[in-house]
Amino acid sequence: MMNSEPPLRLMLLAITTWLAACVSVPSQDQIQLSPAGDQHWNVIYRFSRPTSGITLVRTPNEARSNRWKFTSPDFEIIKVNDEDVIRRSDGGAFSMVNVLVPATYVPLPKDYAPFSPFSDGGLLIHSGRFQGCATAKLQVENTCDGPWLMKITPPKGMHIIVEGQLQSRTTQWLDSGDGTKVYVGTAKPSESSYFIGIVDSALPTAITEPIEKLLPQLMKLYAQMLPPLRQRPMLFVSYDASFSEGHGHQGGTLPDQVFMHFYGPGWEGSDLAGQTYEDTAWFFAHETGHLFQHSVTGVRDASWIHEGAAEAFAYLSLQSLKAVSQEYLDEHRQRALDGCSYALSKGTLASAVDRARFSDYYDCGLIMFLAIDAAVRMSSANQEDLFSFWTTLIAETGKNEPWEDVIFLEKIRHAIGPSLADRLRLVVSDDSDAAAIAVRQLLP
Ligand SMILES: [Zn+2]
Repeated sequence: MMNSEPPLRLMLLAITTWLAACVSVPSQDQIQLSPAGDQHWNVIYRFSRPTSGITLVRTPNEARSNRWKFTSPDFEIIKVNDEDVIRRSDGGAFSMVNVLVPATYVPLPKDYAPFSPFSDGGLLIHSGRFQGCATAKLQVENTCDGPWLMKITPPKGMHIIVEGQLQSRTTQWLDSGDGTKVYVGTAKPSESSYFIGIVDSALPTAITEPIEKLLPQLMKLYAQMLPPLRQRPMLFVSYDASFSEGHGHQGGTLPDQVFMHFYGPGWEGSDLAGQTYEDTAWFFAHETGHLFQHSVTGVRDASWIHEGAAEAFAYLSLQSLKAVSQEYLDEHRQRALDGCSYALSKGTLASAVDRARFSDYYDCGLIMFLAIDAAVRMSSANQEDLFSFWTTLIAETGKNEPWEDVIFLEKIRHAIGPSLADRLRLVVSDDSDAAAIAVRQLLP
């Protein structure tokens, strides 16, 4: 996918975002964000009981330690088991702490940035970056999914959009799972039949035009092939040309949201934007594909299920729409096959997550799901395909119950046949040369 989509359980856990005006909230850990001026935001943690530390969710690098500053010298961020933990320097208990965080973009490996600036001063905020649990409680419960009472105050003169609702004052909701993206700024969202969106007007048309043309086509195609969405998703495309440490783009999906951030100079140049079109098209085909997966996923070490299927959705949808050249699709597939073969020479696919090789799930998964598509078409005389197979998965998958490799391959065995299931099992779990050979034999 997007090369930067986090390996989170993004599709597993529906975030619980009720506007809190509608619910009575019991005693709850609170996280409150408000603008602090000079491109910083104030983040206040209020815990319902004193704690010796707050373990922050997901620590992909040193960004918090380097960028977060406490308003009191009594606090610090330390690493415990590779996780960022806020604590008092004297080890004492506390129930409130105040942090200043720069509201600038910072690329995070396999995670979403806390702030993605728009060119007009607006911001997309990722609530999930601020989630954290009382350390002692986390050690007992071994899970940190919230909910938290999240409050965000927009800067003066700006509004806030949470769950498609535009508010002009402090907004609060119960945040959980991987969080949500919240917009603050002055732009009014545009509405189409398929999206409620804010697309940065400073982006060159070489990027925005394909997005605006292709997205409705993709959504229409997916809605014909897969069960329709329950509600129109939000689309956010932001652009920060002032980012000074290179350029790139990063995006992904959260429930009912698709987003992409372009950063750094150079996007106005037609060369860079032009070269980006096909990758951008693939990105949105992959991400909108996730929306139509309807929360069907694999467990973490079986991420090839949802990532591979989204890759195959992208391949098949772009091919069907003739949105990119067949040469581009062939090259993408060949790169994935070579990448997967190499990956399987280093270890099993199931263990890729332990080797920090999350991209292997995309590479191998694309080949595996194109093989599933080919097998379904062949056995049904082209009456069915990967999308019809996925539709049955949606019907059979319990709410928020991710598939494990073994059970998923049993499903393949019954639905498609033992030959394909056995070859896929080799790719997933064999640690000999047979796995790399098997993946090369999956496609004609
Ligand atoms: Zn993905």
